[in-house]
Amino acid sequence: MEVRELVPFRVPMRMRFRRVEHRAGVLLRGPAGWGEFSPFPEYAPGYTARWLAAAREAATVPWPAARRTSIPVNVTVPAVDPTTAAELVRRSGCRTAKVKVAEPGQTLADDVERVAAVREALGPAGRIRVDANAAWDVASASLAITRLASAELEYVEQPVATLSEMRDLRRRVPVPLAADESVRTAEDPLRIADLDAADVLVLKVQPLGGVHRALEVADAAGLPVVVSSALETSVGLAAGLAFAAALPELPYACGLATASLLAGDVVLDPLLPEEGAIAVRRPAPDRALLDTWVPGPDETADLLDRLAAADAATGSFR
Ligand SMILES: [Mg+2]
Repeated sequence: MEVRELVPFRVPMRMRFRRVEHRAGVLLRGPAGWGEFSPFPEYAPGYTARWLAAAREAATVPWPAARRTSIPVNVTVPAVDPTTAAELVRRSGCRTAKVKVAEPGQTLADDVERVAAVREALGPAGRIRVDANAAWDVASASLAITRLASAELEYVEQPVATLSEMRDLRRRVPVPLAADESVRTAEDPLRIADLDAADVLVLKVQPLGGVHRALEVADAAGLPVVVSSALETSVGLAAGLAFAAALPELPYACGLATASLLAGDVVLDPLLPEEGAIAVRRPAPDRALLDTWVPGPDETADLLDRLAAADAATGSFR
């Protein structure tokens, strides 16, 4: 069960997203295939150990059997004007849209207009979720959700920051709530379920320590799951697809349509959606592309140090 090769990479983002301008990490090759270790730069080794566990699993252990061959995905609509929002949705071919709301410098009226434009573009059969990234307090969330609800929302993602606020808000609004930022570790989803703090869980493979672990977490929490990416290359996205494909139920579109946020990829045939879904598959990296995205010597050394630190912390998190 040996990892046979480590390949550091660095791919620029098309535009700044989540405060980062590029994604860097290490690809691991083993007997089961390729895995991706790409924790965000600010994460400490005690936490990145889980990300490494996910990469090691992908390289050394077969993923669980798939129950479906295609995963519906959402288009993400940033805090843009209504016309641009509608255009993004139409061009995507997706039938579900995730609309960013409560962004700094924007008003609730801006959010309402953007969501209305997205509803118009999707038609009545389309699904809309909004993501506030924990920007509201309970009172403003309650007001905003009441105003936005006329567009028929499937759920509101992380409207408020804390679990007690989520729980409080859940009793006040008629729209389901999803926990995203509240899920950092494998223990969080169980707490969220115990506290009745959300109706839906947004889960990512790398922070949970792999596909098998993520499935166990989903099962133990007993809530519907939306699988989301950590802005990986197609190597990491393939693990998200494998998780989504193995879930017993998949009632919502997943947040895995993020390959296009990168200015390049390590595979020739990236995991991009077609007509609102991504086919479940596992493309292997292309050697010429791996050469294209080799980081400089300092960053290479730094990435391998981070991997070694995560490895040294392994065992401390279970
Ligand atoms: Mg989110």
